[in-house]
Amino acid sequence: MNKPKMATEKGVPSNSRVLMLLGQLERMNGEAMVRDVEMARQVTTKILHLIQTQEKSGKEVMSKSSSGMEVILASLEVSSLIRRGRRVGVFVSKGGTGILFQILITASKDLPPSEELMLQLHSLLAKVGPKDRKFGVKARLSGALNVTINLMKQNLQNTKLLLPCLQVLRVFSTNSVNAISLGKNGVVELMFKIVGPYCKKNTSLLKVALDALGALLKSKTNARRAVDGGHVPVLLSLYLDWHRNDTRHRHMLIRKGLLVCLRNITNIKLGRKAFIEADGMRILYNSSTECLPVRTLDPLVNTSSLIMRKCFPKNRLPLPTIKSTFHYQLPHVPAVGPVAQLYSQPPGVDDVVDESDDNEEAEADSDTENEEDEKDHHSANDDIETDLNKLHPKKSPGRPFEELRVYERFFLELSEDFQVSVFSHALECASLEEDRALNAEEGLKGVKQEGSPVNATRHIQSPLLLGGITTRRVGGGGSNWGSDCGSEGAEDEVGEGAVLEVPDTALLLPLHDPDLYVEMVKGTHSVPQYAEVAYPDYFGHVAPTFREPLLERVYGVQRSKIFQDIERLIHPNDILDKVVYDLDIPSCPVIEDNGESLKFNSQFESGNLRKAVQVRKYEYDLVLNSDINSNHYHQWFYFEVSGMRVGTTYRFNLINCEKSNSQFNYGMQVLMYSVQEAISGRPRWVRTGTDICYYKNHFARSSIAAGGQKGKSYYTMTFSKNFSHKDDVCYFAYHYPYTYSTLKMHLSKLEALRTPQIYLRQDILCETLGGNSCPLLTITAMPESNSNDHICQFRNRPLIFLSARVHPGETNASWVMKGTLEFLMGTSPLAASLREAYIFKIVPMLNPDGVVNGNHRCSLSGEDLNRQWQNPSPELHPTIYHTKSLLQYLAHIQKAPLVFCDYHGHSRKKNVFMYGCSVKETVWQSNISATSSYLQEDLGYRALPKILSQIAPAFSMASCSFVVERSKESTARVVVWREIGVQRSYTMESTLCGCDQGKYKGLQIGTRELEEMGAQFCMALLRLKRLTGLRNHQHLLDLESDIIGTQTKVASCPTTYVMEEDEPSFLEAIDYSAESNDEDAEPENEHAGEVHEHPEHLDQLSDSDTNHRD
Ligand SMILES: [Zn+2]
Repeated sequence: MNKPKMATEKGVPSNSRVLMLLGQLERMNGEAMVRDVEMARQVTTKILHLIQTQEKSGKEVMSKSSSGMEVILASLEVSSLIRRGRRVGVFVSKGGTGILFQILITASKDLPPSEELMLQLHSLLAKVGPKDRKFGVKARLSGALNVTINLMKQNLQNTKLLLPCLQVLRVFSTNSVNAISLGKNGVVELMFKIVGPYCKKNTSLLKVALDALGALLKSKTNARRAVDGGHVPVLLSLYLDWHRNDTRHRHMLIRKGLLVCLRNITNIKLGRKAFIEADGMRILYNSSTECLPVRTLDPLVNTSSLIMRKCFPKNRLPLPTIKSTFHYQLPHVPAVGPVAQLYSQPPGVDDVVDESDDNEEAEADSDTENEEDEKDHHSANDDIETDLNKLHPKKSPGRPFEELRVYERFFLELSEDFQVSVFSHALECASLEEDRALNAEEGLKGVKQEGSPVNATRHIQSPLLLGGITTRRVGGGGSNWGSDCGSEGAEDEVGEGAVLEVPDTALLLPLHDPDLYVEMVKGTHSVPQYAEVAYPDYFGHVAPTFREPLLERVYGVQRSKIFQDIERLIHPNDILDKVVYDLDIPSCPVIEDNGESLKFNSQFESGNLRKAVQVRKYEYDLVLNSDINSNHYHQWFYFEVSGMRVGTTYRFNLINCEKSNSQFNYGMQVLMYSVQEAISGRPRWVRTGTDICYYKNHFARSSIAAGGQKGKSYYTMTFSKNFSHKDDVCYFAYHYPYTYSTLKMHLSKLEALRTPQIYLRQDILCETLGGNSCPLLTITAMPESNSNDHICQFRNRPLIFLSARVHPGETNASWVMKGTLEFLMGTSPLAASLREAYIFKIVPMLNPDGVVNGNHRCSLSGEDLNRQWQNPSPELHPTIYHTKSLLQYLAHIQKAPLVFCDYHGHSRKKNVFMYGCSVKETVWQSNISATSSYLQEDLGYRALPKILSQIAPAFSMASCSFVVERSKESTARVVVWREIGVQRSYTMESTLCGCDQGKYKGLQIGTRELEEMGAQFCMALLRLKRLTGLRNHQHLLDLESDIIGTQTKVASCPTTYVMEEDEPSFLEAIDYSAESNDEDAEPENEHAGEVHEHPEHLDQLSDSDTNHRD
């Protein structure tokens, strides 16, 4: 045969050769069906002959071979290209595997079967198997499993034959149904006869046997079989034996194989029990500690750590109950819903700890064939709304106008004629002052004065914070304080009785006023009746001028933290377990001691710390309080620490986090505010903390207490901090705090920014359950004059409706809102144009109660207010009810806003982005067919985010989504779009972490960037105005298309459906699943019975001695 020209392209000629030979094989196989035994014998003979010439090169075999079978086997085997794939791929795709199995079956009927033939066939199958997705099923259906098992049973001492059999068995076992069937036939026991203690001989065989055993033990039935057979101690002592003797680490893969067996057995509760009883924790802990210095042994350390974490006995949180410490009696408890569920739980339900794993459903294997079904259809796409009726936005008839008429008073600008007190705002001012006075008065009655760190004379007598130190404010507005780098006074230690200089932030923080803040606090109603003021909120925060890059994670941090956790079990005597702060003892949450412990406190607005336990000298477990009337939603934190030693690294563990992943694994740091720094002229929150990571811990709750939700396990967020000042008082927070009292102070100070050209009105929309008022702002420009034309222009301005902070833990939303408000009240020509263009209606804090009480997600009703928009209750969700009513009123008078936007924070993504609503893009993302009428949609909803992506550095268009999800059908965005008919209805999500694109790429987000975002949102509205201001609608569309790209362009790349998280999985991720960083770790959360026959994966299991990647 002529050598083809393309011979340099490896594979191609051989592929065609394989194809040709396969044809011959198929014909032979057809004949075999007819003349079976006789033909099989012939083939056997030929193969035997072939094996004798096996050593020769492929070319030689090709030229000598006369039969197709020989050629095929030879070309596959000799070239050993099998691993490289292409020929095998062709072979498999044309049905080669099935034919090999048939030959195997036929050959096995000879008694005794030819050893050489069996050897040859298994060697081939071992190489074909990993490339054939259906290999396991074909093997079982053809009956080949038993052939291999029987052969092995009869040849346990024949290592030459045993090796290829084990290699094939390893592939068989990755199929879950096969694994069960093999287990029933005694293969687990058989494997335990093969694996043995340290021995330099037959290590390849041992490695393959362990791989096969590991695969078999993934089946829970097999795992139980191994436990019942007493093999857990056996595996542990084998591991220890190899660990001790393999001193040069030549057999790391065998040691790893043993650990994988233990890892799979400990997936079942019985296995974990057996592991603990066999002293597995100590054995793996000690061996791992010895492995730590050798980096190449990382896979062993990681797998050991994974096993130990799983087996670590689950503990309850150190709390009397996981229900929130504070209780708020609701006017009525709705019949259904989270609160009803919480209060109908049997007593003691949260005393129970569920020992099962989150991912472990029933401890039984399913015998059904489901691994071949394409199971990946579920996933996030299930959440896409497919009901076209719900997708077609239509104004619901809503409520009768008579009912809505009362909201007219919030829209005075629409009726005001400016004839009487033209351009005066005395009235509005007066009403605000009255409100404030009222609040202050009420506050005085409710708030305990003793213990308050602040009093009217500015001499701070703080028993908790800075005992004995008096304070006075420096300067009188023109102080030299303020430059970020100017004050170097940090080393001045403030001793007892020293004068504490309170920073004067007036110049830098025009909206901040400490005295006014204290006044505001007095009018704020909290369920725990807080009487203290946290210093950061009192002093204010001046954004630092330096950059705060995303924290680079140090290799092995999580592992070392986990080892420290495991040491609690190994060395229980080292653990102090001393409670130093406990809100469940209301009389003395701060537990006095001899100065050997840190002091904690969070009894101030937005504070959230329930308990602090000193576990070691410099390590504390911290427990966050649940949202009121709830037993979960822990994420937000804000607490005070004092009594620290300088030069000592403290470790803090927030042990009852709930989300399964966190930006703390991806560069986010906690925020810290040092009072010493503040009084030295640097009053600011800074990103801080080292050794930060987030992982599943050994604390759990009962699944019933968790409301039947999946997450029974808690997660630890850990960070370390070395304090730099003696006698400091420091505050830690999840994100830049922004209290309700801060909002009230800012709103009050906004009045001072008013000019005669600005129309600013502040109303109280309603009272919250907790008795706090919910402010509503109206901002626009005063009419140019009281001429009819000007009044008419004034009234006809389109409305922009903004809201924020429905979720209390998303404080960043408030900082963005602050940026928006300050811009709107600004003196720039742009701000003036903007005010002339629109009337702004703003509810800056939709959930004051949640904010005040340190909740993360809910209001006092124990519910997520952003899931109540479809049917808000006037009693339980007043702020939502009345905000929606405002919008309904506007819809009724034909003045539905041009833009609605609700500001939020996002804990699992970077950048700032928007969610909007589009029928078309929702239909595109789902499989529903819709008539084209549904698809004719104005693209206007894309204009605003597109403009933002062009002007706001933190904003990322790529993260935006315009898909309507079912789970979001009761959110502000969807309801305002669907019921009020606002096409441009958005949620704007700001990252809590930082940016991975644009000007701020690689940096954590700060208040400056958040406020800038709020200002740029305004700028974008101005640009939008230029588009929408045009009369000709078609022209508008063209223009918008200009901005957002041509229609076809948009059509060709609709936004992808954005899932919850967008981080790539971390090498050392948070869960048990991907925690080990060697590549054969597979997710533990695979459903039982679902095993992937994944070729690459098996390749990595191969017995080659190639080193694993780090
Ligand atoms: Zn939110």
